[in-house]
Amino acid sequence: MAAALNLGRMTLPSSKFLSRPSHLLSVKMQMQMQMQFSSPTLTKMSTDAQSVASKLDSSGLLRTQGLIGGKWSDAYDGKTIKVYNPATGESIVDVACMGGRETNDAISAAYDAYGSWSKITAAERSKFLRKWFDLLMVHKEELAQLITLEQGKPLKESIGEINYGAAFIEFSAEEAKRIYGDIIPSPLSDRRLFVLKQPVGVVGAITPWNFPLAMITRKVGPALACGCTVVIKPSELTPLTALAAAELSIQAGIPAGVVNVVMGDAPDIGNSLLASPQVRKITFTGSTAVGKKLMAGSADTVKKVSLELGGNAPCIVFDDADLDVAVKGTIAAKFRNSGQTCVCANRIIVQEGIYDKFANALCDAIQNMKVGDGFSEGVVQGPLINEAAVKKVESLIHDATSKGAKVILGGKRHSLGFTFYEPTVISDVDSEMRISREEAFGPVAPLLRFKTEEDAIRIANDTNAGLGSYVFTNSIQRSWRVAEALEYGLVGINEGVISTEVAPFGGVKESGLGREGSKYGLDEYLEMKYVCLRNMNKE
Ligand code: NAP
Repeated sequence: MAAALNLGRMTLPSSKFLSRPSHLLSVKMQMQMQMQFSSPTLTKMSTDAQSVASKLDSSGLLRTQGLIGGKWSDAYDGKTIKVYNPATGESIVDVACMGGRETNDAISAAYDAYGSWSKITAAERSKFLRKWFDLLMVHKEELAQLITLEQGKPLKESIGEINYGAAFIEFSAEEAKRIYGDIIPSPLSDRRLFVLKQPVGVVGAITPWNFPLAMITRKVGPALACGCTVVIKPSELTPLTALAAAELSIQAGIPAGVVNVVMGDAPDIGNSLLASPQVRKITFTGSTAVGKKLMAGSADTVKKVSLELGGNAPCIVFDDADLDVAVKGTIAAKFRNSGQTCVCANRIIVQEGIYDKFANALCDAIQNMKVGDGFSEGVVQGPLINEAAVKKVESLIHDATSKGAKVILGGKRHSLGFTFYEPTVISDVDSEMRISREEAFGPVAPLLRFKTEEDAIRIANDTNAGLGSYVFTNSIQRSWRVAEALEYGLVGINEGVISTEVAPFGGVKESGLGREGSKYGLDEYLEMKYVCLRNMNKE
């Protein structure tokens, strides 16, 4: 059943806005509030958001229930949770708030479906995935609007995310047919040795809010290609895109139980996935703290684990860099999605000879960036996801300035209010300030200064994280040297946006385990089985 919407053109009373930091409340508190003030489904939205929601509703893509064994389902106790538009604070719709019981049923459905999905031919799985990709493309605009509505990023970036996210499904459809085993030359003449690649089994996929589609397709595409079935748990902040993508998986003919979605009480859902011996793999994208919990929790049933966790990306600008290229690349690496990506440049480390020129050019370019609602024309920076995100940025800037850093652009909440924050540049940052040690996840570019190449590498590697990194230089020799010395899973040289479905994405150190995308990404969903066949004599 698609969402039943009340599209009355009411503006929210101010008390509603006061209650808005509900993103900060625990799921439990939100559920209690739901029970006290429960209304079946509600939507009181601005005209823009209304028309988007209304269009999505009529195309059947605005789903509010979880998907278990091919059936849309409410939470068993009827609880719901609100999804908000971060640009306005308005609630979009109520969705099912599920927990352990629904998750256990989703696992059973995935387990039952695994028997047949893993047995059909790779070519058949490939066709289903291709059809799903085609549908994602057909509905590109609506899905992009849904991302902007629940996540806040500018519409152009949302369309980019659909292209990027869908590409993992297309790539997986192609790679499904190329999962080869091996024959090993035998050390004994009467034996033959083989390696079979087989699917891991049921996969629990837990994803964050910052890329509501791509973080799901990067996992589900290769999982399905290999013959696995999945239980997806999207973030409670952005479940609508996940549900729309799941609806399209059904329309693509992917059999019931192969794709399941549950959302709501994250620890309860997570614990059910961890406890189940039927779940053979956990794939997670999110914070390092939660990733560590999931890794520890997987030990009891010895599950295969892949983790895409937080970053602390250095962006090194050498004296010999092309200034224009370095500024454009830094802006792309820093301000995409309002600074809310795991590979966003977190420390801009600039050589002393170009430092002032670079700082000025960066500020000049950034002050023209239009901030606003992601649906508005020309906007390149939307809101932050919630009040907690703004408070974190404020506290990091406060810590840095109290220790000698200077705000040279921005540095405060935007006049638009809510969770809009001014694109910010701060200079004279050093490695000991919190902003250099923690992921800011906001539109603030801290500038650090260095003298020599060795200094730059030392500063860049001085962190537990090791995901994205960037280098701007015109020297080929230096490019190689620095790329090899950086303790990171990804290095962009003279380029600020490097993620693609054809290349392996992932981190080292505490940024994670395993890789997503590319031919290597499929290995995460496969087990190798060695078979030794004895006696080659004729029967
Ligand atoms: P998060 O708080 O760790 O949440 C990620 C997911 O885990 C959400 O679905 C969340 O559910 C769920 N979750 C939270 N606690 C859980 C628990 N105890 N058991 C099971 N699941 C649990 O991270 P986030 O704030 O959404 O995302 C931002 C972080 O993700 C940043 O650190 C960023 O760097 C990282 N990230 C990494 C990559 C990468 O590829 N390496 C990509 C994107 C983002 P609820 O939201 O419903 O609470």
